[in-house]
Amino acid sequence: MSGCDKPGLLPVEEALARLLALAEQAPITDCENVGLNDADGRVLAEPLVSTLDLPPWPNSAMDGYALRHADWQGEALAVSQKIFAGQAPAPLQPGTCARIFTGAPLPEGADTVEMQENAEVLADGRVSFREPLKAGQHVRPQGQETRTGEQVLDAGTVLGPISIGLAATLGQAELRVRRRPRVAVLSTGDELVEPGTALGAGQIYNSNRYLLKSWLTRLGCEVVDAGILPDDLARTREKLGALSEVDLILSTGGVSVGEADFLGMALREAGELALWKLAIKPGKPLTVGHYQGVPVIGLPGNPASSLVTFALLARPYLLRRLGVQDVEPLGFSVPAGFTWSKPGNRREYLRGRLENGRAVPSSNQSSGVLRSAAWAEGLVEVREGTTLAEGDMVTFIPFTEVLM
Ligand code: AMP
Ligand code: MG
Repeated sequence: MSGCDKPGLLPVEEALARLLALAEQAPITDCENVGLNDADGRVLAEPLVSTLDLPPWPNSAMDGYALRHADWQGEALAVSQKIFAGQAPAPLQPGTCARIFTGAPLPEGADTVEMQENAEVLADGRVSFREPLKAGQHVRPQGQETRTGEQVLDAGTVLGPISIGLAATLGQAELRVRRRPRVAVLSTGDELVEPGTALGAGQIYNSNRYLLKSWLTRLGCEVVDAGILPDDLARTREKLGALSEVDLILSTGGVSVGEADFLGMALREAGELALWKLAIKPGKPLTVGHYQGVPVIGLPGNPASSLVTFALLARPYLLRRLGVQDVEPLGFSVPAGFTWSKPGNRREYLRGRLENGRAVPSSNQSSGVLRSAAWAEGLVEVREGTTLAEGDMVTFIPFTEVLM
């Protein structure tokens, strides 16, 4: 049995399953229409169904000559018209061909295109073709890509350049999307000060606030900046109570079961609290609860812990609330470029990068260190209860998989 079965430590997949179940109980269902220019990162609220055939008419895949294959016996053909993309051609005169360019509609009666490289223009202007022609060659038939009525994107698709481009091919000017989730970012800790001010004794700069704000913005959230919350119960109550309009309160810090766990105290008083001890490193303690009905996720305060738990747990939770099905990052199996001799009881996510196709962890894996994440290209997963020799396969999750 692996170490994750140790009582009290919740396996990562179990924590994720519970969070996703909570997300499904609190879907954000309000919708709005957005223009294609504003659709990036938004979540499609309903399936996108094509209202046209694509292409709408048969057209040429080449610059060349269009003809009717059945009528052609190998003889040179007169050129009866010239058709550029964007033009509406006349029907093909029998016994002739049409000069045609890529993307131009095939004239009625034509069904085959020969590329200009295989055609020879004779002195009298007729065209002869060097090679045998296959009926239908170099023609993009009507509806080849999409037929009217076909569903081309599922509800719950996170829109990006490709899906937005696809919607444009179908002539959709607007898309129906879920409204942006409103997420309050709350940094707890008496020691925190903002960049731009001088550090006093015992103080550190608040980094989680900026990490999470920019990340949430990329995920399409409307961020409510709830600032720094001192380690004080009355202020915690007051602050949480003022955030009644958001969809999620995302806090960092104050979740270790230390004496300064005011977030936990406030949630215990006025809502629900679950303190999860996760079989994950970095990032063991996670608070999940509600304050007066508003969902709260409390990430651990150490920056690398915030990063990992946001990437693997809070991000999927948020996406699922918007109806996204595919919420887990894609990991790739790569050989380890390191050894791991002591099996752990928590699943470790090492900040690392790929070097010559092998996963290499950064030298400092302390949960307080964000710099090693900046050096890294992703997370290297070392499962609980395992040892690794160089070349053993590990899962590598590129940051690009989670940063959007
Ligand atoms: P805590 O969970 O409050 O005990 O915090 C754990 C560690 O993370 C402590 O070293 C904190 O100083 C640090 N920490 C907490 N919040 C932040 C933050 N917003 N930015 C940077 N470090 C933080
Ligand atoms: Mg603290």
